[in-house]
Amino acid sequence: MAKLGQFTVRTQSRIQFVRIDEEVQRAIGESGIDDGICTVFVPHTTAGVTINENADPDVIRDIIAELNKVIPFSDGYQHSEGNSAAHIKSSLVGASETVLVENGRLVLGTWQSLFFCEFDGPRTRRVLVKVI
Ligand code: ZN
Repeated sequence: MAKLGQFTVRTQSRIQFVRIDEEVQRAIGESGIDDGICTVFVPHTTAGVTINENADPDVIRDIIAELNKVIPFSDGYQHSEGNSAAHIKSSLVGASETVLVENGRLVLGTWQSLFFCEFDGPRTRRVLVKVI
């Protein structure tokens, strides 16, 4: 079994989606596995990972705008750290994605990319990649 791959993502904003296809593809290459399944996992409680459109950046802008509407930054939350909105967004989006690997390549649709989702930045974050 290939060892765990990992890389870091430095975010610049409180909320930001960062494309990570290239980093994940590099981790797949380092795994030496040509055909299998790749899990991308974010070990953070205020971040996430998702797959969505990479062509029109307005799609990501709309997703972020709607998430902010549904889960406002302040809403009488109990959590004393003051970042409950980020925790809730993290749970909604999820901490992992599973992607197919074929001929050593990440299998995604033409318009799809993997995005690291920052909900409480800016920070330096870790992304873990396991290929089996
Ligand atoms: Zn917190």
